[in-house]
Amino acid sequence: MSKIEEIIKICKQRGFIFQSAEIYGGLKGFYDFGHLGVLLKNKIKNLWLKEVVFKKDNIFLIESSLIGQRKIYEASGHIENFQDPLIECKNCHNRFRADHLLKGEYGEVKLKNNKPLCPFCSGELTEERNFNLMFKTYVGPVEELASEAYLRPETAQGIFYNFKNILNSMRTKLPFGIAQIGKSFRNEITPRNFIFRMREFEQMELEFFTHPNEAKKWYDFWLNERYNWYLKIGISKENIRKKIYKKDELAHYSDATVDIEYNFPWGFDEMEGIANRTNYDLSRHSHFSKEELVYFDEEKKEKIIPFVIEPSAGVERILLALLLEFYQEDEVNNEKRIFFKFPPFLSPIEAAILPLLSNKKELLNKSQEVYNILKEKFIVYYDDKGSIGRRYRRQDEIGTSFCLTIDFQTLKDDTLTIRDRDTTKQERIKIQEVENYLTEKLKF
Ligand code: ATP
Repeated sequence: MSKIEEIIKICKQRGFIFQSAEIYGGLKGFYDFGHLGVLLKNKIKNLWLKEVVFKKDNIFLIESSLIGQRKIYEASGHIENFQDPLIECKNCHNRFRADHLLKGEYGEVKLKNNKPLCPFCSGELTEERNFNLMFKTYVGPVEELASEAYLRPETAQGIFYNFKNILNSMRTKLPFGIAQIGKSFRNEITPRNFIFRMREFEQMELEFFTHPNEAKKWYDFWLNERYNWYLKIGISKENIRKKIYKKDELAHYSDATVDIEYNFPWGFDEMEGIANRTNYDLSRHSHFSKEELVYFDEEKKEKIIPFVIEPSAGVERILLALLLEFYQEDEVNNEKRIFFKFPPFLSPIEAAILPLLSNKKELLNKSQEVYNILKEKFIVYYDDKGSIGRRYRRQDEIGTSFCLTIDFQTLKDDTLTIRDRDTTKQERIKIQEVENYLTEKLKF
């Protein structure tokens, strides 16, 4: 079994990630997240919020709606431009993204009369046609152009059309940023690679508004910040790189873009894009809404349409990168062990409490007491079922950094053992010291 297949298996078995609606045969490109998946996603989001929002000045949060009227996406350019080239096999009717097919991403492509053939059945392919990736719906009971609406393909537009609301309500000055975490939807032609390319996914986006003269400076700043964030959360340097876009490869709104890529099993691929979106979005929304979206510089008495620097990351792509980065196999007591070597601040379960198997009531009471104290502060898990070896193994497999064991000695001297996942070594410490111990170890 390949590493990614092992990971997919553990994710299902242990409750990180499930294929959505599996009992109905599943829906391609959609996944559901179990307890551990939600906890790990929350960790990623909190680490992003900490570095991008809370440790900075002048960055404000927003939560805008998922569904937006057609006008928004006419203004943003999505109706016109947000499309991928689609081709279909006339024989097996599989559909492909033409650019991905030509790069060999679906398998080897044979040519006939200089035209590519289906990588699955060598059948003839249709001509390319453009396919818009947005999900369309209608708001209200009448299906007509006026009620046409779209599930957002990125969280950014909700930030742009709220520009004035934030500027006025937060009474802020340039430069400032608006940040949003939330779901986005794209009707990808071929969702694949587990949670890498999905049709419903979560983004973490910052739109940072700056004076046009300072755009380059802030672009460099955010690129550096975001790159270092990945190193800080534990991704190794050899597994990430920056991909700089050439001018003719840029999206319609961008003046400069760099992707931060991870070394996925199929090669380096995008986790995050950092773009200089210029004043494209604010100008377009001003034009389409007839509302002036500008910043007034009191000192110079001039109106400015700010430039926007956008770091835009996908939560699930980072989640997949972390699962791949920290997946480990070793041997403990002559048995193969699989574990996720997450840094403690990323472990979905921060500490597991595993009482010694015993009928002794005092032992269970003590264990419950420790559990009740610690769950006030940490994400803890209580497990008193099965052999201690098997319980350790289960915690290792979900990446729990610390297992706390309560035994007979605990009843004598109020100490417990803490087992380190990576070394499997145990140390004995006083119960009163556990809180400080964990706080120290879980620091980011
Ligand atoms: P790709 O080229 O892989 O389709 P993109 O360049 O269209 O991605 P952006 O529009 O820059 O992606 O979106 C910002 C981020 O959102 C990406 O870096 C990625 O982490 C995430 N993202 C985009 N599309 C998907 C998807 N289909 N599934 C999961 N995450 C996605």
